[in-house]
Order: sequence, then structure tokens, then C-alpha cells
Amino acid sequence: MIIPVRCISCGKPVGHLWEDFQERREDGDPKEILDDLGIERYCCRSLFLTHADLAAKAAKFKK
Ligand SMILES: [Zn+2]
Repeated sequence: MIIPVRCISCGKPVGHLWEDFQERREDGDPKEILDDLGIERYCCRSLFLTHADLAAKAAKFKK
């Protein structure tokens, strides 16, 4: 759905970095982007690399 505000494992706030990561991901190396954003722990890195943003698709359906 939406990227968690904090890392699920360690609690570091990462939600504010998601849009920047997504924009740069289109033509950049994910390793360099994560290093540049200051995401060092592998729990946080896996959160960014494996996240599927389905908020727009889910928003089409009513409750
Ligand atoms: Zn983490």
C-alpha cells in the first residue's frame, strides 16, 4: 500500500524519503540512491527495494 512512515524493523523514520527515491529510481542505481539518502541498515533498504506502491490501484475501489 503506502510506504510505512517508520521502518518496521528498526523504527527509523523513512516515509519522507519515498517520493525522492521513486523519482530517482527511474534512471538511477538503487544502491547509490539509498546511500545518498542515508539509508544504511539493510532492514530499511529492503523496505525501499521491495515496496510495491498499490495505493492508486486500491483507491479505485469503494469500501
Ligand atoms: Zn530499518
